[in-house]
Amino acid sequence: MPSIRILEPINAGIGKISAGDISDKEIITAAKQIKNCLSNVSPMAPSCCIDGRYSEGTLANTAEIVESRPSVAGGADVTAYAAAEMTGIWFKPSSKRSAKGRLLDIDTLLREQGVIPGAHSDENAIEDNFKNRKTGLSKIGCGTSDNFIDILNRPYDAFDIIDKYSAMLMSNKFDQKYMKIIANDKLQETVKKWDPINTLHIVTKASSGKSVEISRGSNTEVIIIFNFVKDTTLDRYKFLSKANVKAFVVDMWYIDKIANAMAASRPNSIEVFNKLKHAMVAFQLATYLTLCDGTQRPVILTN
Ligand SMILES: [Zn+2]
Repeated sequence: MPSIRILEPINAGIGKISAGDISDKEIITAAKQIKNCLSNVSPMAPSCCIDGRYSEGTLANTAEIVESRPSVAGGADVTAYAAAEMTGIWFKPSSKRSAKGRLLDIDTLLREQGVIPGAHSDENAIEDNFKNRKTGLSKIGCGTSDNFIDILNRPYDAFDIIDKYSAMLMSNKFDQKYMKIIANDKLQETVKKWDPINTLHIVTKASSGKSVEISRGSNTEVIIIFNFVKDTTLDRYKFLSKANVKAFVVDMWYIDKIANAMAASRPNSIEVFNKLKHAMVAFQLATYLTLCDGTQRPVILTN
């Protein structure tokens, strides 16, 4: 049976998603339900996002009950692409490949290596035809994709917090030398053509829409789960019905799978794996600190 460790809130974040007024007792009662709501993940299941809303339907079938899918911020493509850019080791500096082309290359590589990328949208984005009503810019309903450029700024603004929690999460696998991220101006220059719609288009095309979930309801997560129990994830629907609260879910074991898939093709694969893994963990925390106000309780789930 997995064990759970409930931590104090991170108490930092610039986002709007808040745990609100929830007592310690309610959090502990809810967290105890996590173990009863873990579900096994098939190796061929497409990934999804850390978003705690449950999914009803996909773009292919809006009535379908979606099986539990492994979760990282934005789905496998977005987390992998973020790490590729953050480390500065992935794309050749002379590469003129477009932002969409780069994302597509990552998507293709992951599929070749047995990782199935996935993404999600939500009811509002679909209703608004994937456009932000105020700005007219693309919006897909995934906070990670929609705020990707802001998220990539976070490791420079909140390095100490990201460093501290990355070290805590990776414990003896953490090595400070791998926490090196390329200069922010260089990174922002590369990713300024980011358009969240590309995530949706690439995954939709590759899966005829089956790997794009539709999230329902609102973001009222009170917990962020870091799950180290291999080949499992939280059944969000079951958790919501049993605990009556929502939780973000970061499947930490799946980060290893993505980083391995990327590094396998490189000659210095161990070094590449470590750099990508550290960047991916930092990206999960950067996403959290961008979208949330830091009031959620982190829960560590281990074997
Ligand atoms: Zn999302």
